[in-house]
Amino acid sequence: MNKYVTHLECSLTQKQYPKDTVLELSEAGRPLLVKYDLEAIEKAHKKEEFSQSLEPGFWRYLPLLPITNQASIISLGESITPLIDISQLYPETEVFIKDEGRLPTGSFKARGLAMAVAMAKEFGLNHLAIPTNGNAGAALAAYASRAGMKSSVYCPKDTPQINILETKLQGADTHLIDGLINDCGKIVLEGKTKYGWFDVSTLKEPYRLEGKKTMGLELAEQFNWELPDAIFYPTGGGTGLIGMWKAFHEMHAMGWISKPFPRMYAIQSTGCAPIVKAFNHGNKFAELWEKPSSLPWGIRVPVAVGDFLILEAVYESNGKAMAVEDHEVIQKRNELAKQGIMLCPEGAATALALDHAIANGDVAKHEKVILFNCATGLKYPMPSLSE
Ligand SMILES: *Cc1c(COP(=O)(O)O)cnc(C)c1O
Repeated sequence: MNKYVTHLECSLTQKQYPKDTVLELSEAGRPLLVKYDLEAIEKAHKKEEFSQSLEPGFWRYLPLLPITNQASIISLGESITPLIDISQLYPETEVFIKDEGRLPTGSFKARGLAMAVAMAKEFGLNHLAIPTNGNAGAALAAYASRAGMKSSVYCPKDTPQINILETKLQGADTHLIDGLINDCGKIVLEGKTKYGWFDVSTLKEPYRLEGKKTMGLELAEQFNWELPDAIFYPTGGGTGLIGMWKAFHEMHAMGWISKPFPRMYAIQSTGCAPIVKAFNHGNKFAELWEKPSSLPWGIRVPVAVGDFLILEAVYESNGKAMAVEDHEVIQKRNELAKQGIMLCPEGAATALALDHAIANGDVAKHEKVILFNCATGLKYPMPSLSE
């Protein structure tokens, strides 16, 4: 493991765990966070060195990532994802889309799974399993196959067809389940004890979070270490939101960025909004959302093991959790596509939420805002020629 990693820590109880051991959740059943000797990193590295790096992707932030060194990288050609300036569509707001659809396997799940698979390889694991709404399974399949590992993927049977097929084609043992992502999670859990799989479910191992953290590092670098005012993030398990928040704290501790951090807006679907409900009640934890439905599949997550971490970031940043309607999301997707900006439904959900936030005054004039397009729009059903 990276020499700067000191230990891991339970995100709920702060109990410490040793590095260099295979870990999943803490004893409290909550996510483990990788802790670094930030003082040592600050002494040895300047933030400017990252912009000069010849490494085209997020691997340039190696001192702040868990892998031991360059040799552990399993690459499919990761790149720093572009910011698309769409401010001309907004009279008074500066709006940028962080286009994560440019990553290998067409979604930001590549960040987390590239890291988790690299760490699994360092630990000598050979069979990884995952419950997924689509993109995580595809990313696992690709990186695991590339690393010479087996992968088993469980997804709800109404997962977008392309996700199912790309996952199978890239070598995963792929199963369709008559249920939701948490039902798939239960099957993976059983396989863990039965077949010795390693479970790479969202936040149930510590390293996918470190991969997603790179979105925060990238944003800081791309905005010349002065972060934007607000970030709109489509929130399922919340790995990306939690990861960015972790990155902001780490960079702040090293003096690379200053406060205030961006306001974090967690966007969900009105048909599956456990985080929004908890936020509206001022709660620390979220309850299981019964009978969830959400057309943006990536955010159809009725229960999240990192719920309190998502909420903490939203509360601390003075952000909000907001829910949007499926049919309006698709309208927004279609409307933006006509402007040459084709987002995935989850990305369109953030654009719609921004419209609401501007209308109700949450986003002030001349603020700088990031929308997350988490996957390429090409993976999703489109209107037919006659529509
Ligand atoms: C996984 C996924 C999300 C949710 O990301 P989390 O960080 O797990 O909350 C959103 N959109 C798409 C397209 C996804 O694949």
